Amino acid sequence: MKKVFIYTNFSCQACRRLKEFLRRHDVSFDYVDIDRLSGEDRDVQKEKAHRLSGGWDIPVVQVGAEVRVGFDPDWLAEALGLPDAGMGIPVPGEDWVGNPSLAPRREALRVMFDPLARALGYKFTPELQEAEFLLEQVARNETVYGMPFCPCKMVSGSRELDLRIVCPCIPFHRKHFDSMKRCWCGLFVHEDVQEPRMLKQVPEQETGK
Ligand code: SF4
Repeated sequence: MKKVFIYTNFSCQACRRLKEFLRRHDVSFDYVDIDRLSGEDRDVQKEKAHRLSGGWDIPVVQVGAEVRVGFDPDWLAEALGLPDAGMGIPVPGEDWVGNPSLAPRREALRVMFDPLARALGYKFTPELQEAEFLLEQVARNETVYGMPFCPCKMVSGSRELDLRIVCPCIPFHRKHFDSMKRCWCGLFVHEDVQEPRMLKQVPEQETGK
């Protein structure tokens, strides 16, 4: 089987689903959680992922010589020669426990983001645990970086670029998100979405299908 290496963030839900997908298909892989590193180690891995993908989105998936950004089960099935994408979009294990010290800020962000998202035609994902997890990661980023940066993107270090990943970043990526009916992380979905699990992270026009 082809060698699989993935650049992920621990705080990124799509990254957790990707790992779960690979495990359920018995695909061996190596990975690095960039947001679990610090200092020079983080910069080195961030730069590698950026060079490979040409952007700052996470996850970056390398299968043999092919590279894909985002969790795309259909592409993975094809690239890895799996019988089919099968489980589609698995839900990660129930291993996440919220951090009580971040709970007050998480709730404050929820109240702050709700009207902003609604004004843009979006709402929080109805997947409650997913929303909870992602909001906590945004709150965590706020304590680390001083800004509520996106959990599913890399902080580039460029002020101009990083302003585009302050949550909710919908206005900066409107066209992209509208084509998927969800934001990149899945914290927000279009107001008419009832089943977010059916939505793909990578829009069809980008998969070539
Ligand atoms: S709105 Fe943007 S910054 Fe916020 S969670 Fe979604 S993709 Fe990340």
